[in-house]
This record gives sequence, C-alpha cells and structure tokens, in this order.
Amino acid sequence: MNLSKKGLSISPSSTLAIDAKAKKMKAEGLDVIGFGAGEPDFDTPEHIKKAAIAAIEGGFTKYTPASGILDLKKAICDKFKQDNGLDYTPAQIVVSNGAKHSLVNTFQAICNPGDEVIIPAPYWVSYPEMVKMADAVPVFVPTTEESGFKFTAEQIKAALTPKTKAIIINSPSNPTGMIYSQAELAEIADLAVAHGLFIVSDEIYEKLIYDGYKHVSIASINDKIKQQTIIVNGVSKTYAMTGWRIGYTASSPEIAKIMSNMQSHATSNPNSIAQKAALAAISGDQGIVATMVAAFIERRNYMVKKINSIPGLSCVTPNGAFYVMMNISQLIGSEVAGRKINGSDDFADVLLEKVQVALVPGSGFGIDSHVRLSYATSLENITKGLERIEALLKK
Ligand code: PMP
Ligand code: GLU
Repeated sequence: MNLSKKGLSISPSSTLAIDAKAKKMKAEGLDVIGFGAGEPDFDTPEHIKKAAIAAIEGGFTKYTPASGILDLKKAICDKFKQDNGLDYTPAQIVVSNGAKHSLVNTFQAICNPGDEVIIPAPYWVSYPEMVKMADAVPVFVPTTEESGFKFTAEQIKAALTPKTKAIIINSPSNPTGMIYSQAELAEIADLAVAHGLFIVSDEIYEKLIYDGYKHVSIASINDKIKQQTIIVNGVSKTYAMTGWRIGYTASSPEIAKIMSNMQSHATSNPNSIAQKAALAAISGDQGIVATMVAAFIERRNYMVKKINSIPGLSCVTPNGAFYVMMNISQLIGSEVAGRKINGSDDFADVLLEKVQVALVPGSGFGIDSHVRLSYATSLENITKGLERIEALLKK
C-alpha cells in the first residue's frame, strides 16, 4: 500500500495512549493508580450541564456558524478583556473542537512547507506532530531543571534560521508546570517583533496557577506582538470539561478567517450543545476554579515532598498546571525489579507491570531523564501510588 508519507510519520499521542491503557486495566478489575491523564478529576459543574440540557431541550441541535456562535465569541472577548486586558472582536475568535483542534488550525493557517517552528523542550507531546501535520519542521530548544525548564530569548535567537516562522510558548507549561514572567515574555516578544515571527501562545492552564504567580499573556506586552500572536485557550482544564471538546483562538482577523474557512470544510462547527455549555462556563460562576486550585496545591505539595524523600528520585516544584516532572536520571543504567532501566520508557513499563502505577515517560516530551505524573487525581490515589513506587525502589 502506498500510504501518505506524512501520515506515516505521525506518532500516536503518548498521553492518550497511557490513559487508555490505565483505564482498560482498571476496567479489567486491576487496581491501577493513574498518574497519566492530564484531566481534572472533578465533575463538570452543575450549571454548565444544565445549560447543555437546556440547549438540547430548546432544540439548539443544528449547525451553527462554522467558527462558533456569536454569543460565545462575545463572552470569549469579554474574558480576554477582563482576564488579560486584551481587546478582541468576535471576528478574531474561532471556536473549535478543543484547544488541540485550535492548535492544529493555527499551524495549518500560518505554515508553508519547510517552515520552522521553535518549541522549548520538554514540550507537550502533540506540538511536534501538529507542526509536522502542517508540513512544517519542529525545532527544539532544550531547557534544564536549573533554568526552571524555560528557554530564553538568547537561546531562541541562536535557533533562528531564515525559515523560522513561529515560536510556541506554553505558560503555565505542560509537562513542567513552569510559568514565564512578564520580563521573560517581553524579551521573547521583542525578538519575535524584530524578526517578524508568529507566537503561538497556548494558555490553556492560565487559571491553574499557585504560589502567588500571575499569568501574563505575551499578547498583552504591546500591540505589535499582539498582531503576531495567536492565543490558544479552552474550557477543558479550567472547567473540568475535557470531554465536551471546546477550545478557541484569538488572532488577527486574517488568520481567524483562514482557520474559519478551513474548519468550515474539515469539521463544520464545534458541537452546538457544547458551545452553549462553554458559554455558561465562561460567563457563569467561576467557583470551580478556586475549588480545583485549592485541591491541586495540596496534592502538589504532598507529591513534591514525597518524591524528594525517595532515594533515587527528585523533582522541582511546579507553579502551575497539574503535572510534576520526576527526575529519574539517577536510576538510568541501574536495575529496577530485575529490569535494566535504559530510559523513561523502561521505567514507566516496570511501574505499570510490577505495581500498576501509570505515568507518562518523558521520551514523548523530549526528555528521557524524567517521567510525568499528573496530580489531577485524589490525594488518596497519589499517596497510594507514590508509596508503591517507593516500595518497589526499596527492594
Ligand atoms: N494544550 C496543552 C498544553 C494541553 O495540555 C492540552 C491538553 N489536552 C491541550 C492543549 C488540549 O486541550 P483540549 O483539546 O482538551 O482543549
Ligand atoms: N493534554 C493532556 C495531557 O497531556 C490530555 C491528553 C492529551 O490531550 O494529550 O495529558
């Protein structure tokens, strides 16, 4: 069979694969502790569900405009004004089937074959594949624990070529939980403006921030960088709505038009009912956010302390999102439960096999010396899971 070379070059999402594996093992009756999924364990709030039920009962079950309903776009504009001090009009907003779809649309809209997109590593597993799907080339800039897993304008400058088209910023970051400051973003913005580069700013974890840190959108630094930035956001993480599939972008009207045109052929509108639910989420009571943040802080604190108390393991404290990058470099080359650990995949395999703990190997995030644990699960599970890891390593 002569299949698409591009299609064959795309690897599956390791985060979704681990999650599916853990859920399957659970369904088979195994006592699996899942640190895999980047998915809040809270239920979608009642008023959001009610808005969806009202949409169904009111017959709001037909096609909508491809890029989303006006009410929702207006609510998203109000959100940008209120939370980020940014002025957008509905013509600059495109609502899509999850932030993942918004990101895919973005790269399709801005990239030509061979264009380079700069990505800080560790990165969220889907960025390189999304860039490749747009016939562009991912260019990685490695970061370290010592630099807080953040890249600098200087590092980005060294990676520029005549083909550089865009830079991805993901703050707070998946998988590291790190947050860029206004000053750090301002330097990156100056560089992007000087070289005419787009910024793809994935702000999906904007509200999940701890320790007094503040979220700054790079688009708010000045008007020039705003013109060159595509902000990606969505309701999945903030409102525990991963299954509803609503994400959105804010960009120049020209980019929004391309995305809307493409989406009109690829998927038509995002689900009409989910759009009404997203409207209720964005414009309604924000109580769930504070509840989740309080729980995430408690879980993170426990997880970070426990990991750093286990010989052979360590981690830095993340200030946002709900992931901890656990450093396993001391274990690489040694044996765990009779198995040689050559990298993060081996470690993740051993944990799943021997003590039924599911986590995501760092290999998929471009850092084989670490594994990612999500703390979007109960404190009870976290305690149990880390105790199992500790007991296995003690043996
Ligand atoms: N960006 C990042 C960094 C993420 O972790 C996720 C998680 N799925 C997404 C985008 C996409 O979110 P969704 O498609 O559920 O809106
Ligand atoms: N983004 C989440 C994660 O990284 C959910 C899974 C996915 O969409 O890849 O785990």
